[in-house]
Amino acid sequence: MQYFKGSHATLRDVREDFPIFREYPRLVYLDNAATTQKPEVVLDTLIRFYKSENSNVHRAVHRLAERATHLYETARHTIASFINSRPEEVVFTRGTTESLNLLAYSLSLIENYSAFIVPEFEHHSNFVPWQQLASRFGKEFVPLEIRGFEIDMESFERIIHGQKRPFVFAASGLTNSTGYRLPIDQVIRTVHKNGGVVVIDGAQLIPHEPFDFKQSGVDFLAFSAHKMVGPTGAGALVGKKELLEKLPPFNFGGEMIDRVELHDTTFAPVPQKFEAGTPNIAGTIAFAEAAEYLLSLDKANVSQHIRMLTSYCHELLSGIEGLRLLSPQDSHGIVSFTHERVHPHDVAEFLSRNLDVAVRSGHHCAQLQMRRLGVKSTCRASFYVYNTVEDVESLAAGIKQALRWFG
Ligand code: PLP
Repeated sequence: MQYFKGSHATLRDVREDFPIFREYPRLVYLDNAATTQKPEVVLDTLIRFYKSENSNVHRAVHRLAERATHLYETARHTIASFINSRPEEVVFTRGTTESLNLLAYSLSLIENYSAFIVPEFEHHSNFVPWQQLASRFGKEFVPLEIRGFEIDMESFERIIHGQKRPFVFAASGLTNSTGYRLPIDQVIRTVHKNGGVVVIDGAQLIPHEPFDFKQSGVDFLAFSAHKMVGPTGAGALVGKKELLEKLPPFNFGGEMIDRVELHDTTFAPVPQKFEAGTPNIAGTIAFAEAAEYLLSLDKANVSQHIRMLTSYCHELLSGIEGLRLLSPQDSHGIVSFTHERVHPHDVAEFLSRNLDVAVRSGHHCAQLQMRRLGVKSTCRASFYVYNTVEDVESLAAGIKQALRWFG
């Protein structure tokens, strides 16, 4: 099958880019929503930086420092073009969690943002910061009720219409526990019409879909490198420049200042204002390499491939007796399930020990979503660019074996 890269590449070629599959030839890796595997080019970038480019950034004028600064700022351009924003709108962080904490904290300090509205299905990284900071800074926190794994559009419209402006609406573009895709355009239109700002947690969405920050109209977007074949400890907060400029900084320290006086400090322009201290330089440069790697694949083919695997997974799993699927029929990249008698941890452990199939079991950092579904935990299979039809078949066969084993 002609596949992702160029005209000759096949899925096998893509898999060969990922050394983990040489190390473990039997591995069926279906825990991509937690973190993805890394291609050789990303690993090489990390090693090359420490071997022959290592220096701090934005400080010294010696050759290595200039090279490191150049690579770091080029990474900002690459990430900006990956999501079509301006480079100065990209703030490098340690990942989605830090991006969202930064944002929730800084928005809390702006007096006129009076309420934070967040759907119940959110990952804790996009729920707890808003909940906690609202309570600390005297804002209203509005958990938006969900229906199953979806936003209830009627109650969404009602709550948004009744809000005092300006307010913040923060939601995942693609939920990590069930693979529900937020109707982003509709959400943005409604929130903007009513004077709010929209924060999209893109931790799952950005690795899976081409996203145009400028055209979407979204105000803030957070995502992590490690969920899109990049390294851990790197990520981004992207914000409209005029909004970032209004936000007070989150961390104070080196390189985020303009001028320091005895009793006052003025700050550097965005995005430096939000990047205090020595950043994850190698990780950020490798983050850009990961984006380049994904750009080298055919986006439409990749999306279609993952959609096909997800829908095949729905089909095979829905034929297994006693299994309950806890993902929308059109979920993207994620299929969650439980069995009426066998605990998710038992299924996941059986799959790994006996068949080298890696799935996640647990509450997926979304306890409120689990509660709405009436379960404590699920098994979750999640797909990425290197997964195959055989991976899905191994999963389905493995679940059947597990169910026989547990009687
Ligand atoms: N938001 C969503 C939807 C996620 O899936 C995750 C991680 O699983 C996060 C936020 C947190 O991301 P990170 O751990 O990279 O900060």
